[in-house]
Amino acid sequence: MEKKNRFETDVIHAGYEPSDHMGSLVPPLFQTSTFTFPSALEGERRFAGESEGNIYSRLGNPTVTALERRMAVLEDGEGALAFASGMAAVSATLLHLTNTGDHIVCSDGIYGCTFGLLQLMEKKYHIDHDLISMDTEESLRTALRENTKIIYVETPINPTMKLVDLEMIVRVAKERNIRVVVDNTFCSPYLQRPLAIGCDFVVHSATKYIGGHGDVVAGLVAGKDKEAVDEMRSTVRKDIGGIMSPFDAWLLMRGLKTLPIRLDRHCDNAEKIAERLKKHPKVGKMFYPGDPDFPQYELASRQMKRPGGMISFEVKGSKEAAQKLLDSVKLIRLAVSLGDTETLIQHPASMTHAVVPEEDRKKMGISDTLIRMSVGLESWEDIWEDLEQALNSI
Ligand SMILES: *Cc1c(COP(=O)(O)O)cnc(C)c1O
Repeated sequence: MEKKNRFETDVIHAGYEPSDHMGSLVPPLFQTSTFTFPSALEGERRFAGESEGNIYSRLGNPTVTALERRMAVLEDGEGALAFASGMAAVSATLLHLTNTGDHIVCSDGIYGCTFGLLQLMEKKYHIDHDLISMDTEESLRTALRENTKIIYVETPINPTMKLVDLEMIVRVAKERNIRVVVDNTFCSPYLQRPLAIGCDFVVHSATKYIGGHGDVVAGLVAGKDKEAVDEMRSTVRKDIGGIMSPFDAWLLMRGLKTLPIRLDRHCDNAEKIAERLKKHPKVGKMFYPGDPDFPQYELASRQMKRPGGMISFEVKGSKEAAQKLLDSVKLIRLAVSLGDTETLIQHPASMTHAVVPEEDRKKMGISDTLIRMSVGLESWEDIWEDLEQALNSI
């Protein structure tokens, strides 16, 4: 692993050395599909793996590699891989770790498309999954089978913000030699570093907080075991081919530099909004890990550096009331995705989680009146004034 400085320094410097690139302060954008070989023999050596050196951008590109090196350091990993989207990262990781007949145990409430992927894997490859509440060690142990290969965890869970105790998961997984994969999208490595407490892989939709500016769709995987990451690079990533473009890697490195500063402001703003939402007469249950009444407030304080920038809440009334709220916001943007500079609001039951059958949605705690908000970087007073007038319009 690269020598580590403090996180705020590593987001700016890790994995890149200007003197290797003609002194360029910023990692250069290698916008090229292929690389020329100085000789036939050198070309043969590169293909044989006897010489480092670039071949073709699906196999590796220096701009993308710089991002991967930085990300490995930030997640306390030994390696990282960049992908075309968060789902390309999730699917490559799950396919890499499983064979036909294997079983995956998941936290009950996962990203809608991850749920879709698990169903596809079950239908096409007979790789079963169970969505379970990971509230207790016992519930997790009961769900494990002989053929369980992966424990797949989102924490906080999208969109209910339920947390999973990662130390407990690691303890159980280690006894059985099961790999733990954590979707760390909602936290980013600034708020939570699962590899540091023994998880095996972290996956990200870099589209969200890592990019942070709403201009890239991208994914990242970081791993504890360098060999496993290298194997993924030369198999599932090379042959399925969901690679990240060099320009997207360049944008993400730019985004990463301000990750701690942005995240702190996202968290500050979310705190202010949550305090006010909680007291509003049109708001029912609120799901925000920074709320002292949140059932897992203690776990959130222990596991996350800060409670994050995401808030979900139920409006009192029906689905129509929720939709009225969404139609009434003016500054806040009605859009899925999260982690952007703009505050975004959406309705999980009819949008991000519409693919999840109603019965499963109910089990996950996603009601028809649930709203999910990604608190942006605007003035919190402006965000609140807009939200308040929209709530009052219901
Ligand atoms: C957005 C998201 C994904 C999928 O990422 P894409 O970049 O959209 O493919 C996966 N997990 C979580 C928690 C997400 O929010």
